[in-house]
Amino acid sequence: MTLVLNEEEIWVLECIKESHIDRGFHIRDVIKKAKAGYGLSRSTVYEIVGYLEFHGLIKANKSGNRELDPDIHYFVICPGCGKEVAENEYVKENGRAICEDCYLEGHQKIKFADPVAVRSKKLFRKQHGFEGTEGMTELQKELYDFILTEGGATPEKISKLFELTLQETMNQLAILRHCELLKWRKIGEEMYMVPFDS
Ligand SMILES: [Zn+2]
Repeated sequence: MTLVLNEEEIWVLECIKESHIDRGFHIRDVIKKAKAGYGLSRSTVYEIVGYLEFHGLIKANKSGNRELDPDIHYFVICPGCGKEVAENEYVKENGRAICEDCYLEGHQKIKFADPVAVRSKKLFRKQHGFEGTEGMTELQKELYDFILTEGGATPEKISKLFELTLQETMNQLAILRHCELLKWRKIGEEMYMVPFDS
């Protein structure tokens, strides 16, 4: 049977993961986090925890505490496209769990997965004898150097640090992607831009 969780259930699950320690988790910590982070009431948290217990996602461990059972798998419905997404394949954004496609789609004016753009960019750069970040704008160079130094960064982090709108950041990153200087990588539940060769 496929266990499909809704938005509130995912929120509670996230709070459980954050509250989880070796011995398990305490529902009081989850309630605190769920209230502060998502405005969920105590009774909602209890109700959802009960539901997750019913489906075996939460079980009692040897010490009699509650813990997550990593062997029980679940899905979410992407609010963007309605697709079922496995627990390790969704991306969190503003508390919503969305699929990678919708995440990328929602953030780009310049398409990332654009083979024509990649080819023409490569040709242009080859004709001009550009290598690495040669021929890039100062901003693009700075973004690239930053990601190279950090090993990777989320667009959200980059946009904050460089004081760019998220859309502008995504456009700049798309150009760096077309030049095959950067690529996407999913780390944890977030999408990072990492050096292309990494
Ligand atoms: Zn989607």
